Order: sequence, then structure tokens, then C-alpha cells
Amino acid sequence: MRFLARYRHIITAIITFLLFAFLVFVGVKSKDIKNVNLKSNVYAGNAFGTAIKKTLYAEDKSVLGKVSDDIDKELKDIENQLSVRVADSEVTMLNRNYAPGGKYKLSETLLSYLEEEMQLCEDTKGAYNPCIRPITNLWGIEDGETTVPSDESIQKALSYCNTDNMELCEDGIIFQEANMMLDFGATGKGLACDRVRKVLETSEADGAVISIGGSICVYGDKGDNKPWHIGIQDPRGEEGDVLGIVDVDGTMTISTSGDYEKYFEADGVRYHHIIDPNTGYPADSGLISVTVICENGLLSDGLSTACFVMGLDDAMEYAKSHEVDMIFVTKDKKVYVTDGLKKTFRLTAEGYTLEKYAK
Ligand code: AMP
Ligand code: MG
Repeated sequence: MRFLARYRHIITAIITFLLFAFLVFVGVKSKDIKNVNLKSNVYAGNAFGTAIKKTLYAEDKSVLGKVSDDIDKELKDIENQLSVRVADSEVTMLNRNYAPGGKYKLSETLLSYLEEEMQLCEDTKGAYNPCIRPITNLWGIEDGETTVPSDESIQKALSYCNTDNMELCEDGIIFQEANMMLDFGATGKGLACDRVRKVLETSEADGAVISIGGSICVYGDKGDNKPWHIGIQDPRGEEGDVLGIVDVDGTMTISTSGDYEKYFEADGVRYHHIIDPNTGYPADSGLISVTVICENGLLSDGLSTACFVMGLDDAMEYAKSHEVDMIFVTKDKKVYVTDGLKKTFRLTAEGYTLEKYAK
């Protein structure tokens, strides 16, 4: 008893502290668990020459029409800035009107995208090439007029895709040679996801899954405080067939590049739209699909294209050193995932095997 009396103050302090810690813990937990009954609407459309699907969630469904319209408006703005299919987009105007060796003024946003792209080009040792348009133009894959070009014309077009001849300055770009052209085909859908995310952040939607061609913006939550389950396209299935499911939280963009997306066949050969900047021909790296999951949409899209060109080993090395999660499918239908996805990816399609990457 004398012990208790002597240490009364200390014991009271300890009990008060423990009680306080317990209450904080319970408070945090109960704030975490939401379980709100959110409702969803699905909207379909087109932008960037690709299909758009928006699944939007909110407690009050009536707000979702406006959110969908705001997203469409944002997508139109991006298309009007970046698309080579839009006759007066900023990119088309640059491609057409620059003078070799002189500075061509660009908007701040376009310059910031180009800075990220140049970094990606460096990090992937040129597998991602921001000025590959002379080659993609030649193959005509983005424009519907597909043709197998002569080797001579490929070599000539390749000489216009040299990033050493492309220099960014504070408010513009300098192309040192004639015939150079930017191409946002590999990053546009991902950077659109970044811009859509910003629209969502200021909107009344609580959660969303927006798919823009091969890129999917996953936003917020569905009210159940659980991760989103996102299906990855089966590269040898019909459109919408699922290779597997990955669990992600509502901050991620998921981009997939594959040889099944835009391709044509001539004399029994499949020519797809992902070009190896070293050869000027469709990349033949042994991969048929690459999925990249990260918070930066531009990066996820650009990387999925670049890693397709790089092949499994180099792409795995990139993924490990840059801590980015990826899913690879090889020609012989083997599926590899980075360590971060081992617990959250489930292969569901038949005919594929999930392999352990050992190197
Ligand atoms: P994605 O579907 O995201 O892989 O992008 C493919 C598109 O990006 C193509 O249709 C081309 O417009 C462009 N592209 C193809 N190969 C490359 C490359 N190596 N670097 C940058 N852009 C590319
Ligand atoms: Mg891409």
C-alpha cells in the first residue's frame, strides 16, 4: 500500500497516458472505416482516337453527370494541345512550323511534359523517344494508312528522330534539323490520367476508374475502404478479356502497352505500333504486353511503351532500381510480376503461367 501511495502520481500519469493512447487509436480506426453506400454511373466516349470509359462514384448520383462533362472538357483541351490529328494543336503547329536551329516558343505545360519525357528517354537509354513521329508517320499505324516502308525510307526517317538534335530551353524548344516531329502517342493517355485526376480532386466524386485507351486512372475509393480490383487486358484475348486482376489504391495510374493494340498484318507478319528507336521497326523484344503501375500517369504510360521495347531483363532491372511495379507477358505466355505485386496480382486467364523471375 505504501508503494502505491509513494508512486501514486507516476501510476496515475501512466494510466492517463495509456487511456489517451487507446482513445486516439480507436478514434483513428473509426475514422478509417467508412463503409458509405456510394452509387456509381458509367459513361462511355471517345478521345485521342481511343475509347474512354468513366465509372464514377458518389453518395449522390446526381452530381456525376457534371463530373463526367468536366472530364470530357479536360480531355478535349488535352487533345487540342497534344494531338497530331488536330490540325492546329500546339504539337502539330510546332511539327509544321519550326525553323531548324531556331527557338520555337511553347506553353509552360507542354514544356513540363517534354522535360519529363526527356528524363524518361535518358533513364530508358532511348527506348522511349519523344520525337519518334517521323517513323510512326511512315508506318501510318496511328493514322489508318498502314504500309510496310522500304528499309531506305526507315533509315532516312530514323535520322530525323535523334534526340541529340532536340534541345529544351526555358520557354521553348530547338530542333537542330529539318523534318523532326514530336509524338505524344506513348504518353498522352497517361498524362491525360494525371489531368483527369486533378479534375476529380476538385469534383464531388468520391471515387472513379477512368480508362483512356491503355491507361486507367484509379481515384479515391468506393466507400468500402478496400483497394480497387483492376483487370489487366489479356493480350491474346478479345478486347475486355482479362489476363488477371491487380489490387491498387486510389492514387494509381495503370498503363498497358501491347502488340495487340494497333497492328496490321502483311505477308503473315504482324506489324504493331511500338517502335524500337534503334531499328525503326516494331519492337521484337520477346514481350507481348507490359503493364506499369505508378502514381505518375505520364511516367506509367511512357514506361509501358519503353519497357516493351527494352524487353524483360532490362525492364525488370529498371523496375527494381526505380521501385516501379510492372507486369510482363512474354511471347510464350509466361507472366512475370515485380516483387511489389506478388501478393496483389492474381492471374485468371487460362493458357498463361505465372513465373518466378530469377536473375
Ligand atoms: P502505347 O500504346 O502507350 O504503347 O503508345 C504507342 C504509341 O506511341 C505509338 O502509336 C506511337 O505513336 C508512339 N511510339 C511508338 N514507339 C515509341 C517509342 N519507342 N517511344 C516513344 N513513342 C513511341
Ligand atoms: Mg505508353
